[in-house]
Amino acid sequence: MTIEKNIEDIKNKIRKSLKKTERSINDITIIAVSKNFDVEKIIEAYNCGLRDFGENRVQEFLEKYEKIDKEINWHMIGHLQRNKVKYIYDKVKLIQSVDSIRLAKRIDKYCRDNNMSMNILLEVNVAEDDSKFGFKIQELEESIKRISQFKTLNIKGFMTVAPYFDNPEDARPIFKELKNNFDKYSNIEYDNVSMEFLSMGMSNDYHVAIEEGANIVRIGTDIFGERNY
Ligand SMILES: *Cc1c(COP(=O)(O)O)cnc(C)c1O
Repeated sequence: MTIEKNIEDIKNKIRKSLKKTERSINDITIIAVSKNFDVEKIIEAYNCGLRDFGENRVQEFLEKYEKIDKEINWHMIGHLQRNKVKYIYDKVKLIQSVDSIRLAKRIDKYCRDNNMSMNILLEVNVAEDDSKFGFKIQELEESIKRISQFKTLNIKGFMTVAPYFDNPEDARPIFKELKNNFDKYSNIEYDNVSMEFLSMGMSNDYHVAIEEGANIVRIGTDIFGERNY
């Protein structure tokens, strides 16, 4: 399968999921998750029209960033250590994996020092899976209040990584719960918060996530093939 064909298939599957909703494919951002894939593959996906790419490791991201001279929107989607914020804050469009107040505070520091702002998503560990990062649902209110005090940060929504289920339908309640919270916080006014993006769904379950309201999906395997670690 070529990357071009894979992307076509994904778009068709997305259109199908959207039939049950009032949104169109133009409302959905596909993030090509390029971790473990080399620059050639990224360029190939870029040449098929994709502009948003996600990486989860800072070192790997920086190597690719140096080599690629294209207008790419880079998304940090993996756990970000505070001491690595300085390498990426000026290179990424959206940090989707803000999973602690301390991390938010560090990003704010670099942004203030450099007179810039940053769009972020809060990562939410909906299933309270110990192996995953993110705020618990019941921590969201307090965390949003705290992070909204950091003037350089714009909270743009939520991201979640659902546990892997053989049957993707099993992830549906998780997506539903996060969408409910997304709507809830969309209706509350905080400084520097506007709920625009709901990033949920990966190769195995993005069709379910879109039915439940995702407008960003993060897809690796279905675009690039299986990863070799
Ligand atoms: C790897 C990864 C993805 C993509 O996973 P696939 O199953 O390959 O589509 C999405 N989101 C995050 C946070 C990831 O680390």
